[in-house]
Amino acid sequence: MSTRCVEEYRLPAASMANTRTLRIIRYGPDVGGGKKAYIQAGLHADEAPGYLVMHHLIAELDRIDAQGGVQGEVVLVPAANPIGVAQWRDDGLQGRFNFSDGINFNRSYPDLTDAVARRVQDRLGPEAADNTATIRWAFGEALEDLTPEDEAAHLKHRLLACAHDADIVLDLHCDHQAALHVYVGESLWPAAQDLSAWLGAVVTLLADDSGVTPFDEACSRIWWRLAERFPQHPVPPACLAATVELRGMADLSHAVAAKDAHNILRFLAGRGFIAGPATAPPELKNEATPLAAVEHIKTAVPGVVVFLKEPGEIITAGEVVAEVINPLRSNGARRAHRLRAAADGLLFARSADRFARPGRILAKIAGRRPLKAAGENLLTL
Ligand SMILES: [Zn+2]
Repeated sequence: MSTRCVEEYRLPAASMANTRTLRIIRYGPDVGGGKKAYIQAGLHADEAPGYLVMHHLIAELDRIDAQGGVQGEVVLVPAANPIGVAQWRDDGLQGRFNFSDGINFNRSYPDLTDAVARRVQDRLGPEAADNTATIRWAFGEALEDLTPEDEAAHLKHRLLACAHDADIVLDLHCDHQAALHVYVGESLWPAAQDLSAWLGAVVTLLADDSGVTPFDEACSRIWWRLAERFPQHPVPPACLAATVELRGMADLSHAVAAKDAHNILRFLAGRGFIAGPATAPPELKNEATPLAAVEHIKTAVPGVVVFLKEPGEIITAGEVVAEVINPLRSNGARRAHRLRAAADGLLFARSADRFARPGRILAKIAGRRPLKAAGENLLTL
């Protein structure tokens, strides 16, 4: 018998005669306090690969579920941003920033550390499992106390309410042109190594605080913040939340998406969510590196950019990564402006269009030596 159930949540309308609906699909035993995994796609609504992976995940989970193979609760939100997915402009979907206020849909989630700390300060004890349950309860209560103001705030609130008590949270995204990479809390490493290994991540970027509170961090960071706040009690990093960048915007194929979905399910099987013998994950492609060590290749001059390096390539300090060309420059030698890497690393993402504007990030290289201090914004706009 199928365990699948579908819930629809209507966001309060922002415009007359317009309401949007968030669809939430649940599989597995509905027992409070059991294992829970939460996976969403399309928070940046113009990032297509996640939707295709969801399509394949649902097909696989339906098949596994029909055989009684879903052992933990698995919650899917296949299209997490019904606001952004309706934002068409000039014949293109623009789903990263909210048209109404310009805010990135994956930034500025509420930090509820203080609200949760107040509720748990007299309830924590010597058992990590008990503390985990207490903190999840308090996290839920603190969320209920919030009163979101507008439609986007309601959306963020509902997504967090669906994910806050999960053991695993995967937020599926993509970059412009990129190799598969994963963002995860430093406190979750190396425990999260099986995730990067199963996904075949070329780069894993670690930060306990990126400075801008994306969705994954809103779910996971509270655990190490509370561990710091209550050193006398064991508080484990109980939520493995990660942002998974499924390569580039145009990297869509059934073969690749089906493999990604399959790998996510093998990761979940290893974590006890799916029945069957656990298989060891493949070898990790590259050791994780600090998010603060990502070098952003920028230009000081405008022009068109010609990349000399591909996503996935190893870069040596001083190598030319790209040239910015301006045919209007009079001096022939200066028509090409060369952009060099400052440090050794692995180029994992680059922009999709070929126009360079001073200050704009054109490519990202994962290095080993931190380039930014704690508290600085480590992510892009
Ligand atoms: Zn994204």
